Amino acid sequence: MSDSRNIDELSDARGKIDAVDRDLVRLLKQRMDAVESVGAYKQGHCGFVLDPKREEEVALAWADAADERGLSKFFTNRILQEILEHSRRSQEVNADAVSVETKRVGYQGAAMSYSDLAIQKLFAARGSDTQRTGYRTFACVFDALADGSVDYALVPVENSLVGGIHDVSDLILTREVTVVDEEIWPVSHCVAALPGVQPEDVRLVRSHPVALRQCRRQLELMRVDVVEVYDTAGAAVELRSEGRKDVAVICSEEAATASGLIVLRRDIADQQPNETRFLLLAVQAEHEARGVACKTTLSFAVDDRCGALAQCLMVFAQEGINLTRLESRPHPDAPWEYLFLADIEGHREDESLCAALRDIRPFVNNVRVLGTYPSRKDMRQDQAPAQISRPVPRPSAPVVRQEKTRPVSVSGVEIGSDRFTLIIGPCAVETAKQMQDAAALAKANGAHLLRGGAFKPRSSPRSFQGLGFPGLTLLRDAGHHHGLPIVTEALRPEDVPRIAAEADMIQVGARNMQNFALLSELGKTRCPILLKRGMSATVVELLQAAEYILDGGNQRVVLCERGIRTFETATRSTLDVSAVPVLKKMTDLPVIVDPSHAAGVRDLVVPLALAAAAVGADGLIVEAHPYPEEALCDKDQALTQTELAQLISGLGPVLESRGRYL
Ligand code: PEP
Ligand code: MN
Repeated sequence: MSDSRNIDELSDARGKIDAVDRDLVRLLKQRMDAVESVGAYKQGHCGFVLDPKREEEVALAWADAADERGLSKFFTNRILQEILEHSRRSQEVNADAVSVETKRVGYQGAAMSYSDLAIQKLFAARGSDTQRTGYRTFACVFDALADGSVDYALVPVENSLVGGIHDVSDLILTREVTVVDEEIWPVSHCVAALPGVQPEDVRLVRSHPVALRQCRRQLELMRVDVVEVYDTAGAAVELRSEGRKDVAVICSEEAATASGLIVLRRDIADQQPNETRFLLLAVQAEHEARGVACKTTLSFAVDDRCGALAQCLMVFAQEGINLTRLESRPHPDAPWEYLFLADIEGHREDESLCAALRDIRPFVNNVRVLGTYPSRKDMRQDQAPAQISRPVPRPSAPVVRQEKTRPVSVSGVEIGSDRFTLIIGPCAVETAKQMQDAAALAKANGAHLLRGGAFKPRSSPRSFQGLGFPGLTLLRDAGHHHGLPIVTEALRPEDVPRIAAEADMIQVGARNMQNFALLSELGKTRCPILLKRGMSATVVELLQAAEYILDGGNQRVVLCERGIRTFETATRSTLDVSAVPVLKKMTDLPVIVDPSHAAGVRDLVVPLALAAAAVGADGLIVEAHPYPEEALCDKDQALTQTELAQLISGLGPVLESRGRYL
């Protein structure tokens, strides 16, 4: 046969392949159009995307057809699985929510790194084009998301060979981000070098440290030196411009090709499969998937006591919730305390997850839901589909519901237990001496916590406004000297981090109960909060205000009834004693009473305090002053030694009748 005839036959065969390929693409498009119609039907009717039975039927039909034509079933099934996964994901996207806008996505590394490839896969199914930007470090990616340079960030969180990626976990825990999707990428490492290089020429291999670790044994066998660089694809680009023939890189085949390198070896990781799991992060939560298997990412901090973590995990187990990952990271603000990052199967609105989040509250001081998103793990062909989350109606009433009170621990003092809590101290911090004397008075009368306002919310701008941070220092010194944890009020969101660092409990005053910016800021701290009822707020509004703090993550909230405005002027406010049993029915948060601000005068404080104990309050916050005649604030209602003694002796029998003690 002549050469020219050979060439003719070859181009003939290639022409056929090209024509078949065009047909394949045309048919794929037709298939995707049909998938879209099925998707629209599912959205409108059943709400569930995944239909395992139907998928099984399709797979069987493909297998039969492959058999008939003598094609490998394994080969056709692999193609089918890709098609099914893409179809399923495109049905997840709510047609109304699809935006034609190009999305800006940030990642760590260079173009064609594994993160970049994972973004391309993820967004192909999300139905939007991407403008992708690689950054040198993970912190730069998070900065870009925070300053609005990108709409999303895709970051690797764990790898099947090397485990969690701690730098990323730390950033997720400390930055304000929401998890909106995940992607699992099968990592396939190649050794790539300049064209013409033979494997035996290579003396040095460069790559990202994680990639080098994943190929350690193979690299040892190759007897080469290794050098860590910031990124796999970046290493390929640099090698190309440098032109060294004794160097190779480990990167994806796509990165090698894009940089004009050739692949010397494929699949050189020490173990297979080598998969990396990525999370897609955004600043705002998105429309959360329904009708597909979901995962939810949570962060929580456990109380520093024996068994707290085990008890949390028991709650998840009792609710039948599967944790797919649990990682502990050092708390950035508290040495030797740990924050946990957990991925669990299920939707944040699933009944079981709502119940678990409520039931772990006694064991955690902080819990945040970072996002619910479609689970990609269950898309793998070798796994049975996970439980599909079924929509449950969102409770319209506050989520806090009737339960036994769950105590809140304030530096070792439990509010809401059988022991009744006494918080005593002056309205305002005035001088070092006043504070020391007040602390001594409080301690001598059985106080568990010391109160004192450093920032005062005064009705008149000409009244004493408090000493501010220097006052907080005086309060802290006095508390420290007398062994009493301190409670003080915060007025402005921007002061919260500093007050949280110095105080044991932060009070929200009646005037600020609906200062939502302040409540949200308090939700981010680990400091227990004393939330006072607004003077004209209903108990439901008080609970809604508490939810701002709880939803922000902080689970240590104590409610306080302090009197409301009524037509009655005989007292400063009207103490709504009924609010205590009413709240106790509606919430599991501890409830204490402030009789001082309700009474306004000294001689009414003790009777109101006893009434509060009788109706089931978990404690009292009362104002007391060592020399009330000199008080700069609320002097008429400040108790002295005389009334404090009456209070203690009066409380004894009342508490006993309720099975409580001081
Ligand atoms: C206080 O406790 O000092 C105070 C100002 O209370 P309220 O916010 O309840 O008026
Ligand atoms: Mn006061």
